[in-house]
Amino acid sequence: MIKKQIKIAKSSGFCFGVKRAIELAEKVAANNKKVYTFGPLIHNPQEVKRLDKEGIKVIENHSKIRKGILVLRTHGIEQKIHEKLSKRKNIDVIDATCPFVKRAQDIVKKLSYKSEQIVIVGEKTHPEVIALVSYGKGKCVVVEEEKDVKKIRKTDVIHVVSQTTQSPKQFNNIVECISRISKVKIYNTICRATFDRQSAAERLAKSVDIMIVIGGKNSGNTRRLYQICSKIVKTYHIENVEEIKKSWFNSKTTVGITAGASTPNWIIENIKRRIEKICESGRKDKKQEKKK
Ligand code: SF4
Repeated sequence: MIKKQIKIAKSSGFCFGVKRAIELAEKVAANNKKVYTFGPLIHNPQEVKRLDKEGIKVIENHSKIRKGILVLRTHGIEQKIHEKLSKRKNIDVIDATCPFVKRAQDIVKKLSYKSEQIVIVGEKTHPEVIALVSYGKGKCVVVEEEKDVKKIRKTDVIHVVSQTTQSPKQFNNIVECISRISKVKIYNTICRATFDRQSAAERLAKSVDIMIVIGGKNSGNTRRLYQICSKIVKTYHIENVEEIKKSWFNSKTTVGITAGASTPNWIIENIKRRIEKICESGRKDKKQEKKK
């Protein structure tokens, strides 16, 4: 009987920016009672719950807190809110914005002084994109898909910046469409972690019968991994072990696992163990059937 093989993508799970943000928050929480994050620190509900148990509470409305320490999430907040928070007495702001996101914000800010129009390729409603737009002094146009390109005005040069977790393929396709309107200046702000996770997931998806993508349903980079893999092979996007169904693995020999940049290792391990158990029980069932 062929034994099922479970393979994990070479690059998956926590990235540098997420690790850094969690370490910062945990360090602060170890010595302070009132530690808050403005919105979830990272896009993984299970890890956010774990942090809550360590005393790191999520708040959506910063005006509701009178004092304490406020940690800013990895994918940044709007410029005006940031400025407002920095002026508030009794609140210490710890900026855990990922340096790669900061770089994209700085580029948009600089461009806002000299260009007429800044195009941001990304998800309109994603917190990172909302924050990026806030640095553009009303000059940003967000392009999520090719059909949005028609919103762009013809100017001498069109400056194009990317959401850090965009798919390079999608970014290049959109840049190609924009270049039909005017000359384009590209600022590729897709981070290395995103690029590595997407290429590793694509490679793995080509060599297995089924892919499991683990990560928050609210995580943009995890959703992108799902989109990439599902074009190649049957793929499921799950957040936790309870979502796994035995039937997915019937008649599948190789199982691939990947995880978004905000998925902690303990969730990946739990899910891997569960899949191993399912595969093991499947083998036992078949053995017993043969005996009969
Ligand atoms: S995915 Fe990239 S930009 Fe986002 S936190 Fe991780 S390293 Fe930073």
